[in-house]
Amino acid sequence: MRTFETDSEEGTIALGVELARELPPKAIVLLVGNLGAGKTTLAMGIVKGRRVAEPDEVSSPTFTLIHEYGGGNKIYHIDLYRLDTARDVATLGLEELFDREAIVLIEWGERFPEFIPPQHIEVRIAQLPDDRRRITVLNL
Ligand code: ADP
Ligand code: MG
Repeated sequence: MRTFETDSEEGTIALGVELARELPPKAIVLLVGNLGAGKTTLAMGIVKGRRVAEPDEVSSPTFTLIHEYGGGNKIYHIDLYRLDTARDVATLGLEELFDREAIVLIEWGERFPEFIPPQHIEVRIAQLPDDRRRITVLNL
């Protein structure tokens, strides 16, 4: 387990870039934290770090549920916030995505632990006073 602290959106993107360098080509990363913690911001950094898209091309998949970035090396960015039941999640076909040689970033995945393979990486983001965030990385 490693812990980092950032004090701005840019700082969290930079941390995402750093973490991206360490990620294996196939990985499932749970992004855990409250609304506004910085999960999507960290995802931007990971997408930037893997050079699959520019950060300003990354938006929240809250309504679209799954965003796909990159050509050969793909990153899938998923947000389960708006899904209520396991039946909703089942329709997404996550197992098939998890089988791909790709990085899969998931916001609110901890709400449906039965769908998350045990061998996942976890990044927890906690809001501190001002714009600071404590970011804890497990299993990477
Ligand atoms: P989430 O996906 O967890 O709901 P977002 O990444 O969409 O959160 O939003 C985080 C918000 O917090 C953004 O508006 C961002 O500018 C702001 N922010 C302020 N400080 C930080 C920080 N240190 N790290 C990440 N985001 C920050
Ligand atoms: Mg988000």
